[in-house]
Amino acid sequence: MANDNSRFQAIISHSKEYGFIFPSSEIYDGLQAVYDYGQWGSELKKNIKDYWWKNMTQLHENIVGIDAAIFMHPTTWKASGHVDNFNDPMIDNKDSKKRYRVDHLIEGKADEMRSEGRDDEADALLSDMDRLLAKDEFDGLRQLIINQGIKCPISETANWTEVRQFNLMFSTQIGSVTDETNEIYLRPETAQGIFVNFLNVQKTGRLKIPFGIAQIGKAFRSEIVARQFIFRMREFEQMEMQYFIRPGSQKEWYEFWKEERMRWHLSLGIPKEKYRFHDHVKLAHYADAACDIEYNFPIGFKEVEGIHSRTDFDLKNHQEYSRKKMQYFDSDINQNYIPYVIETSIGLDRTILMVLSEAYAEEDLSTAEKQDSRVVLRFPATIAPMKLAVLPLVKKDGLPEIARTIMDDCKAEFRCFYEEKDTIGKRYRRMDAIGTPFCVTVDQQTKTDDTVTIRYRDTMKQERIPANKVREIVANEIG
Ligand code: ATP
Repeated sequence: MANDNSRFQAIISHSKEYGFIFPSSEIYDGLQAVYDYGQWGSELKKNIKDYWWKNMTQLHENIVGIDAAIFMHPTTWKASGHVDNFNDPMIDNKDSKKRYRVDHLIEGKADEMRSEGRDDEADALLSDMDRLLAKDEFDGLRQLIINQGIKCPISETANWTEVRQFNLMFSTQIGSVTDETNEIYLRPETAQGIFVNFLNVQKTGRLKIPFGIAQIGKAFRSEIVARQFIFRMREFEQMEMQYFIRPGSQKEWYEFWKEERMRWHLSLGIPKEKYRFHDHVKLAHYADAACDIEYNFPIGFKEVEGIHSRTDFDLKNHQEYSRKKMQYFDSDINQNYIPYVIETSIGLDRTILMVLSEAYAEEDLSTAEKQDSRVVLRFPATIAPMKLAVLPLVKKDGLPEIARTIMDDCKAEFRCFYEEKDTIGKRYRRMDAIGTPFCVTVDQQTKTDDTVTIRYRDTMKQERIPANKVREIVANEIG
């Protein structure tokens, strides 16, 4: 299904109801495009971060991680091109006074066409848009919006201004005096923290090209369209890796990282047909090749990750602006050069939305005797927020005490949840709703033969296992 808005809304409601994601400062009616992660959302987020970090750093021996500050010297953003080029063409509706990103308005129209089965028209519209964007033809873009009858969703009119460029960076003041010289930016990408530390890391780590530097951290963008839940946020997190290579080898490494990153995505258990590559027609100011990995969200195929061949653009500019050498001596070929860079840049929040979209299932379990259903989050066990629930069948007869010994045995190794309230059926459903892959139930039989029932979330199958094997069995499954 190209676009399934009711499923998307159900995921948003479920995320809130079960402690994954809340609108920021909700008691004050929230803040647009800013969200907080709750108790299970933050566990899920941390597990995804760890999964990416381990894959990038531990499993690639030539990649190391850093953690740079959000604030950077303001010249960084001049050198990176963000002060001059980090703009998006925007258009305002004169009646509602609302501002929109031109590409979002046109993509919205294309989505609408697809939902009506007009896929060819949608493709043609997007390729017209790409062509106009590539040439910065603002009049043509405005004309396209008008010709397509695109209206402002608020005023419902097509009373549009000219198309103009707006910078997406947030700025603030550092120090106590408010003047222009104290203006600094909240970083719009984590990459620059890696570039400015490139030689520090290379020298202290004695790294030889090719090598990579990875980082996970917050980024900030003054996004105009803010209505797609955590898909488009003003404060979000990126997981980026810059891979430093010999000039001339960029094509080969670009292909390598496209494949490698797709392998990572598939390792999440998401089927291949839910992904596609989208090559950029309009290249960013720093790139000589770029593509997105898109996932088929309930709101259609959209970007989760960008893979960019950034040439020596960033290091060369930092060398020029800082007047510090950014060169590397390659002893294998006896040459000094500024390395080229392949970047992989994935949004953590978009990955969470992807994982939630993939995991969310509403299941009808009705039988001839009774109506029944459940909502289950089928997360891969490795990233599930909670791995195991330990549940005494009743709150008496020594069962809680036995359950507690199982908890004590397991909780140092993985995240466990103990609960003794409500019927066992209700407790299972609550665990399904937060995606806990395993539940063990302690019952009267446990007292006689030291076995417990393990219940598997996805199949709902139950089997008896020795109580002292719970830790080992669950640990094996979560890998
Ligand atoms: P888009 O075209 O959707 O605005 P982008 O091409 O500007 O994204 P990049 O600059 O390539 O994005 O950033 C890398 C990744 O960071 C994106 O693939 C996405 O997952 C994530 N990202 C970018 N902007 C946002 C945002 N506003 N909210 C959440 N994640 C974001």
